Amino acid sequence: LAVGDGRSLRDSSPLQIFVKAKKKINDIFVEIEDYVRDAVAYVQSLQQERSIVKSDDAVQVEGYIVKVKGIRDVLMRDHMKVAFFGRTSNGKSTVINAMLREKILPSGIGHTTNCFLQVEGSDSGESYLVTEDSTEKQNVKSVGQLAHALCKEKLGESQLVHIYWPKDKCLLLRDDVVFVDSPGIDVSPNLDEWIDRHCLDADVFVLVSNAESTLMLTEKNFFHKVSTRLSKPNIFILNNRWDASASEPEFLDEVRAQHMERAVSFLVKELKVCTQKEANERIFFVSAKEALQARLLEQKGQPAHSGALADGFPNRYFEFQDFERKFEECISKSAVRTKFDQHSQRGKLIVTEIWTIMDGTYDQAQQLRTEKAVAKKEIHDKLNFTEQQLLLLTQEMKDKIRQMVEDVEQRVSKALSE
Ligand code: GDP
Repeated sequence: LAVGDGRSLRDSSPLQIFVKAKKKINDIFVEIEDYVRDAVAYVQSLQQERSIVKSDDAVQVEGYIVKVKGIRDVLMRDHMKVAFFGRTSNGKSTVINAMLREKILPSGIGHTTNCFLQVEGSDSGESYLVTEDSTEKQNVKSVGQLAHALCKEKLGESQLVHIYWPKDKCLLLRDDVVFVDSPGIDVSPNLDEWIDRHCLDADVFVLVSNAESTLMLTEKNFFHKVSTRLSKPNIFILNNRWDASASEPEFLDEVRAQHMERAVSFLVKELKVCTQKEANERIFFVSAKEALQARLLEQKGQPAHSGALADGFPNRYFEFQDFERKFEECISKSAVRTKFDQHSQRGKLIVTEIWTIMDGTYDQAQQLRTEKAVAKKEIHDKLNFTEQQLLLLTQEMKDKIRQMVEDVEQRVSKALSE
């Protein structure tokens, strides 16, 4: 659906859990930044009186400005990342295109993805690609052009090409979902490098397998490696090309049950990443090719089923949509937990540390005030004493003078009478 006619759909999307949480935590960090700036200004004004704020404390408080700015920058860039893996031609690019509701990634024979492709939203409304070692924006208007641009680059299998696509063309991109397509897992990959470079910050992994065959050892090995590096990665398994089953309806249930059992056992017993119940919500039987075709028709305002389709299309299309809903729920909750939890812990720590410094400063100021009051009292007492002494002294002097005068008077009157 185009963004315009999908507003109510968008508001009810589970992705909103992430979108709203991101807005909220961004607002909180704006407040924290204000608080830190106030604290810095206050501490600087107190620094004139060195004994109140220790210079170490002042430096520490000032340092929080850079820290908070760093967190805010990361927060702005935080997104939900989904990475797709599987053997060449299982349909990874087609699944991504179907989810994006547009043919963005080249797919099919002759268009094997030979490096990592990351599709993310562009705010400017432009579509372009940027290769790993360059900052040059190469304009991309169509899939053909994109395929051509990718061919002319000499790219290693672990390299990453960013594809920016207008956010207003796709709800998932607008809500900050980033898609990563990988080269086929069968092309002698350097799995450790792949995991280090592209997987450690992924919120969800989608294994696109081929429903016409069983899970391959190479596919399994990759996820074994991933789950040693990440604790309980979120893995979905798409048994793609399920439309092929339509040609053999008599085996459909049997084949499905067999795939299901193996996939559940892989997630629950081998990888131990989820429970049996959770695994049932992680494994789907779909046809990405049909889903993409249906979406392209819907974009043109035509019914989804108007193309030439194999039997059972409505079920497969429903299952694809079911996958998307469960995926959206999983990725947004997981991203909120892993990404924002860290930020909120750090935010709390910064506020607590500043509070401790301010509290210490307050205590220091109180102590200083008490000391000054005691000193004042001492001076006051000393003055009082001196005053008393003076008073006594003056009295004494007065008495002496009076006596002297009386004495002189007596002597004068005596002399006069003589
Ligand atoms: P990738 O190498 O894993 O990215 O695979 P692609 O997405 O490029 O798909 C390889 C070929 O398989 C393309 O010609 C697709 O049209 C086709 N394909 C993808 N998904 C399906 C599907 O569900 N059913 C059928 N019949 N063909 C599919």
